[in-house]
Amino acid sequence: MTDVLIVGGGPAGLSAALFTQKNGLETTVFDTDDTWIHKAHLFNYPGIGSQDGSAYLETLRTQVDSFGVERRQQEVTDVTTADDGFAVTTDEGEYKGTYLVLATGADRDLADSLGCAFDDSLVDVDLSMETSVDDAYAAGAMVRAEEWQSIISAGDGAAAALNILSKERGEHYHDFDVPADAAATFGPDEE
Ligand SMILES: Cc1cc2nc3c(=O)[nH]c(=O)nc-3n(C[C@H](O)[C@H](O)[C@H](O)COP(=O)(O)OP(=O)(O)OC[C@H]3O[C@@H](n4cnc5c(N)ncnc54)[C@H](O)[C@@H]3O)c2cc1C
Repeated sequence: MTDVLIVGGGPAGLSAALFTQKNGLETTVFDTDDTWIHKAHLFNYPGIGSQDGSAYLETLRTQVDSFGVERRQQEVTDVTTADDGFAVTTDEGEYKGTYLVLATGADRDLADSLGCAFDDSLVDVDLSMETSVDDAYAAGAMVRAEEWQSIISAGDGAAAALNILSKERGEHYHDFDVPADAAATFGPDEE
């Protein structure tokens, strides 16, 4: 049993994972590495001048790994509600968690099979990316008709994670760090 199960390891899924794991929720990401980011070259991601999409992904993977996210290169074939949460099924077994974030790009089949409401062909979410199924979130390309940009997917994942963290804390949660936190987290060279 983990806190957060995330299906999809593109910008949306890994962004959600970064925020939840960094703030104390055990997080597992399942991914098949078919992310569109491998096809992209980023000139339009604020703060990144010019970077190959796969290189950006490697940096993001290293970033989530440094906080302890468990990444599994496995295809999720089923998601269901379970006692106090959700269960995801892969070839290697069943994994349970309290919260679920679906971030499967343009593939919306798992959201459909879970019973999430749709708005036309898109998964229907609120501003926090929560679906009609309590504690199940959908983020990134799967909730958008055309606004397919990595920065938007990353923002969607962050919004989902902050909502999960707010539920856990029972009040609005802000993931605010200050310069001294860099040294505390990664050592004095980061000051
Ligand atoms: C040719 C091209 C160029 C682009 N150029 C740019 C650009 O210049 N700038 C920009 O901002 N964006 C660009 N994009 C768009 C950008 O890549 C996407 O907006 C972004 O990758 C979407 O992120 P996401 O996390 O929502 O979905 P994705 O990145 O598609 O990630 C979804 C992940 O979920 C995994 N997955 C799906 N189903 C399962 C399952 N059942 N089990 C486990 N894993 C699963 C997939 O393998 C994938 O890794 C480009 C896209 C393309 C195609």
